[in-house]
Amino acid sequence: MPVTEMGYNMTHKEKAEQLLQQQYHCSQALFGAFADDVGLDLKTAFKISTCFGAGMRQGETCGCITASLLVLGMTLGFYDSQDKELEVYGNKKTEEFIRIFTERMGGVVNCRDILGKDITKPTDMAIIRKEGLILQKCPKAINISIEILEEMLKEHLKNITESNINLEDIPKNDEMQSVLKNVNRLLSFRRNVNNLLFSSSKDIGFIQFDIRKFKIINDLYGEKFGDEILDFIIRRLSENCSKEQFFINLRSDVFMVVTEYDKEEDLVDFIHKLDMEISCFKNVKLQMVYGVYTVEDKQMELRQMEDRSAMARKTAKKNILTNILFYKEQFKTSLYNKKFIEENMQTAITERQFLMYLQPKYSIAKNEIIGAEALVRWRHPERGMIYPNQFIPIIEENGFIKKVDYYIWEEACRFIRRCTDIGIRFCPISINVSRIHLRDNECIEVLTDMVERNGIPKTLLELEITETADDQQVSIKALQLKEEGFVLLMDDFGSGYSSLNILLETPFDVIKLDKKFMENMMVSNKGKLILEQMVLMANKLELGLLAEGVETKDQIELLRSIGCDQVQGYYYAKPMPEEEFFTLLKKQYL
Ligand code: C2E
Ligand code: CA
Ligand code: CA
Repeated sequence: MPVTEMGYNMTHKEKAEQLLQQQYHCSQALFGAFADDVGLDLKTAFKISTCFGAGMRQGETCGCITASLLVLGMTLGFYDSQDKELEVYGNKKTEEFIRIFTERMGGVVNCRDILGKDITKPTDMAIIRKEGLILQKCPKAINISIEILEEMLKEHLKNITESNINLEDIPKNDEMQSVLKNVNRLLSFRRNVNNLLFSSSKDIGFIQFDIRKFKIINDLYGEKFGDEILDFIIRRLSENCSKEQFFINLRSDVFMVVTEYDKEEDLVDFIHKLDMEISCFKNVKLQMVYGVYTVEDKQMELRQMEDRSAMARKTAKKNILTNILFYKEQFKTSLYNKKFIEENMQTAITERQFLMYLQPKYSIAKNEIIGAEALVRWRHPERGMIYPNQFIPIIEENGFIKKVDYYIWEEACRFIRRCTDIGIRFCPISINVSRIHLRDNECIEVLTDMVERNGIPKTLLELEITETADDQQVSIKALQLKEEGFVLLMDDFGSGYSSLNILLETPFDVIKLDKKFMENMMVSNKGKLILEQMVLMANKLELGLLAEGVETKDQIELLRSIGCDQVQGYYYAKPMPEEEFFTLLKKQYL
């Protein structure tokens, strides 16, 4: 039978139906319907589906599943979720497909159940053919598969274009057309790059770039202007790239160029030249950021090479010294870590994976607990304990810190309440207040509300704020918090921009000397002198002084000798779970 050429405008369902009518099997019909999408002609599509048809018969898996997974793999990429470097499409998406398919099929998902015949038996196969059972019984599974695939591809398109268009508003056919266009563009780009990789004897470089602050340009000059910029870049790329240099506009303002090169300097020269061509449009200066991956192992999956140039680009974005960065192994871990945190932080809140640990503060003279600092810990079911330094900077950047802080603050309030309930009334708990909270009034309201709801005095909840170079806004907010009756601790004094000015402008109650400050002070006589003066100054200003990160007996002796009595550090105790601290407190007070 001649292979049917099908009209581009037919829907997937129509194509599949037509193929079924022509006596093709379900897997052939389904895969054939998506042949165009995955850049294959029908003939090749049939050859492929015939190959896996044999395997399907062995396992009695519905051919629609096998064909659908192949469509997913070919359009979204075959990725191994075990390989942390790659986006976890492949496996996650195939699992998702099978789950939805099984659900919509009401659990009837193997050939025997769908056809009511055993396809491993030649006699049954003959009946299937003779009675045309495929035509009668398979369309449901095929149609359901197509529906799910279209939904998943649509979702994928949404992600890759990051567009604000409401896809529901576009007629289904157009919508699928644009999926097809994007997928085809990417497929043909990848085919070209693959050819280059295996035909060229030179080194190959992946250059991925985007425009710094493109969103702001869009906001400032309008989206139409933004689109013009992108068109301009595409034009310049076509003018500047040879037949052996391939480029693609991956999404929004992200582009990629793959080229061969002799020496690394040549590659950098090429980027400089390109940058000159594209970094100015209609008098608007565009700042491009380039991430480069130079291929070491040509057998590596293409997608992995793309990912590495993407990692270099993303890391370059944070670098203010250069706009061209070559991939390094450590980008992988840090970006993977970032992605992990972003993907898991919400669940961590809902599943209560964040824990409040408490680190006691001691009086050296009395050898007693005088309070504690609440420190967050993230106990992840698979990754184990994650420490704040690994996730706080990331969630500070994306704003999620607010949620985590509110959670810990609430825990701290609850703990204070728990103490006062059993008669322990003098154990203030300090909480960390990220600077992001001091931008608006929300935090004052939240804190006041928490304190009131828990029925505790404001003075027992102390706020640790990190000092930085003079920041009017922080000073103003701190003043308001102080007026509300909270106790303010200046965190990490001596670690960064120590400015005595801050002491003038912001009404802190206690200075927390940073660990580094202590360390520096320990090494010389001069250091000891400065520390002594700090104690005197704090006394004069009627400020409390607490030394952080105290680890050794020597440090304790020095602090005692100069009259600094309050300390926090491993010498006395590490941060510990709430229960442990509670037991310690009860021992001391009751
Ligand atoms: P920080 O506020 O300066 O907290 C003190 C850090 O020093 C804690 O690390 C603590 O475990 C550690 N530390 C205490 N004593 C010693 C010692 O004797 N030696 C050494 N080497 N380290 C000591 P942690 O808990 O890992 O927290 C790190 C930072 O993360 C904190 O620094 C704070 O800036 C931030 N952070 C922790 N919890 C929260 C939170 O709930 N909210 C916010 N916004 N930030 C938090
Ligand atoms: Ca702190
Ligand atoms: Ca500190």
